[in-house]
Amino acid sequence: MMLFGHLGLTGFAAQRLLSDVTIGWQEFAKLAFCAMLPDLIDKPLYVLGLAPVNSSRIWGHTLLWSLTFCLFCWRFWSSLWPWALATPAHLILDRMWSHPRTLFWPVLGNRFDGILPMDLSHFQFLKFLKWRWEQSPFSLVFDTIAEVAGVVLLTLLLKKIGIIQKKEKGTDK
Ligand SMILES: [Zn+2]
Repeated sequence: MMLFGHLGLTGFAAQRLLSDVTIGWQEFAKLAFCAMLPDLIDKPLYVLGLAPVNSSRIWGHTLLWSLTFCLFCWRFWSSLWPWALATPAHLILDRMWSHPRTLFWPVLGNRFDGILPMDLSHFQFLKFLKWRWEQSPFSLVFDTIAEVAGVVLLTLLLKKIGIIQKKEKGTDK
């Protein structure tokens, strides 16, 4: 899953679960940081050629990292609590259970699941989509629906926070 699915769906869940907390732009920034943290760690490593396998889901997408980060925030970085829970939520939205060696690293051995059949650093996006359709049409359709829903939910959240301003009708006469 990509940016909008993570931010929109996690933002929606946070609004529902933390109904007593007012989400302003600062809270949204913390939520966005935690929701994207696995990708913020792993994608640069992949692009820089530092990933041990051909995948942009490595250490940042492990349960070990996610739980350690949550525990650390809960105990020592209270301003990021409970927003840190968006980090394990990222693993759920990425459906990491289909990559068990990565999710449970190092319990199943010191190896990660290689996911990508090609080097995406050359922007072979259409080839990548074709490959994903051949692998699992369901997962491609799920991700596409989640991205579209994410755009809608994120827009609603940003409007509520006031980051996106509603246009006032009839004020420019
Ligand atoms: Zn991810």
